[in-house]
Amino acid sequence: DDTNIFAKILRGEIPCQKVDECDHTLSFNDISPQAPTHILVIPKGSYIDMADFAANGSAEEQAAFLAAIGRVADQAGLAEGGYRIISNIGKNGHQEVPHLHMHILGGEPIGPMRAR
Ligand code: AMP
Repeated sequence: DDTNIFAKILRGEIPCQKVDECDHTLSFNDISPQAPTHILVIPKGSYIDMADFAANGSAEEQAAFLAAIGRVADQAGLAEGGYRIISNIGKNGHQEVPHLHMHILGGEPIGPMRAR
């Protein structure tokens, strides 16, 4: 699916607030932040979700994605206080955009895993 919003951001058709980029990843601020720091890390390849990426991403792309998550969190100053990473998959995971993305949330206590 090359019509989703992140595919458009990758093609430069829609702007984003970029915080980091490498050969295989792009990271930018979430447009509707759920925490003081809320950054999305996406692969440049058109993988739908983590399951697709795990099965079909190259070792180089997978390593770059993991490295980007750590680098972005460090650069955002989240390492000491801690943070949460989340990747939603499919309907039950409440995934809205069908291009793999990792949410990085931090800057305050993020609370329990699920609201009860
Ligand atoms: P998910 O529900 O895991 O698919 O999350 C999609 C995320 O993309 C949400 O947190 C949205 O706020 C975010 N989002 C949607 N459009 C944009 C955009 N143009 N720039 C940055 N973030 C966006």
